[in-house]
Amino acid sequence: MQPTRRELEHWDRTLVWHAFTQMAEHEPLLLERGEGCTLIDIDGNRYLDGVSSLWCNIHGHRHPRIDAAIRAQLDRVAHVTNLGSSNSTTIKLARRLVDLAPGGIGHVFFSDDGATAVEVALKMAFQYWRQREDPRPGKTAYVALGDAYHGDTLGSVSVGGVERFHAMFEPLLFEVLRLPAPDAARPPEGVAAENLAAHHLAKLEDVLREHHGRIAAMVIEPFVQAAAGMLVHPPGYLRGVRDLTRRYGVLLIADEVAVGMGRTGTMFACEREGVVPDFLCLAKGLTGGYLPLAATLTTDEVWNAFLGDYSEGKTFFHGHTYGGNPLGAAAALATLDVFDEERTLEHLPPKIDRLAEHLRRMARLPHVGFVRQCGMIGAVELVRDKATKEPYPWAEKRGLRACDHARTLGVLLRPLGNVLVLMPPLAVTLDELDCICTAAKAGIEKAGFF
Ligand SMILES: *Cc1c(COP(=O)(O)O)cnc(C)c1O
Repeated sequence: MQPTRRELEHWDRTLVWHAFTQMAEHEPLLLERGEGCTLIDIDGNRYLDGVSSLWCNIHGHRHPRIDAAIRAQLDRVAHVTNLGSSNSTTIKLARRLVDLAPGGIGHVFFSDDGATAVEVALKMAFQYWRQREDPRPGKTAYVALGDAYHGDTLGSVSVGGVERFHAMFEPLLFEVLRLPAPDAARPPEGVAAENLAAHHLAKLEDVLREHHGRIAAMVIEPFVQAAAGMLVHPPGYLRGVRDLTRRYGVLLIADEVAVGMGRTGTMFACEREGVVPDFLCLAKGLTGGYLPLAATLTTDEVWNAFLGDYSEGKTFFHGHTYGGNPLGAAAALATLDVFDEERTLEHLPPKIDRLAEHLRRMARLPHVGFVRQCGMIGAVELVRDKATKEPYPWAEKRGLRACDHARTLGVLLRPLGNVLVLMPPLAVTLDELDCICTAAKAGIEKAGFF
């Protein structure tokens, strides 16, 4: 017998433990179908997907090309292990990713989520220093930025810096040298916008100069620190980070889990400043937002340090059961095909401009302190006082309230504290984008007055 609607909702409140959700006050929303940028709930209500189902959908839901690719793979095999064996679909994906990645990156380690993609890079960096030709076993620490978010496994939490998510786990974490995030919206006292990158790079250089002998790697979300509230770095910062890390012999891990796959307007954010990291982490949009699959790409230099006779113990003893899953790889290959066939990146500029127009309009609202944008990532930060930028206490849930109102207008949004995120699928039409932004604006107006 099929469960009733009431049973489903009851089970959703009492059996399903939702991520980042206070279950004592959880209100079920049962999304049963998708069509392009629209999601449809169990009652047939339609919502525009304003946050790409948590920043991962690219070409829309139920894209015929991606659906067909997954079905075709399903007719062959759903899963084979990548511990020792392989599958042509997964191999083809590795080939495509290496061809797309910045030059110098030639190897792909597959896992299944963003957190694992970063975890893999952290462990590879550590092991690299122990077993390369001229070993540096003292390099065991990491550099990361304030308010960074790299996932929720303990390694990724160690490099993470979002107080409200991570402080609890502090006693479990390894050593990280933390630098303030170069937040273009909140420059330090006395630092002009045009000097912001240089100011933060000087701070980084101080740390590297003093501690490089014990630093294995620096990890960064290039250009946009997503979970921090879509905090945007000043131009030139990433380029400078690459130059400094190279000069001081520190590996660079680019966590492009959120910003990769076309989000910022280029396929990878690193391309924007011609940066080649030592590790490039991809997940979220990699399968178009269909299936869990992640990739950690790296260089010959790192790869070579792991080669040797089995007895030398240089093997990377790390793996995930579903790493490189062929269904996920089929979805990812189709996602890349759609980028080519629909010329997704070429069609972005007018959408990016339209999002900018809406953000400019929202910036004028009384309780909006900041708006930020990088490509198809938009953010609106609500503040109690527009003049002093005094924040709303997070417990007031202003962001959630704004999103609740937007939902009544047929738009699904999920905030980050007091920050409204506008991050629709790249396939969004200008009309859909207008609807999403109009509902967000109405939600913001509502959230400021109660
Ligand atoms: C979402 C995210 C992660 C974690 O990805 P999961 O798939 O949720 O584990 C890591 N890094 C960044 C930058 C992210 O936005």
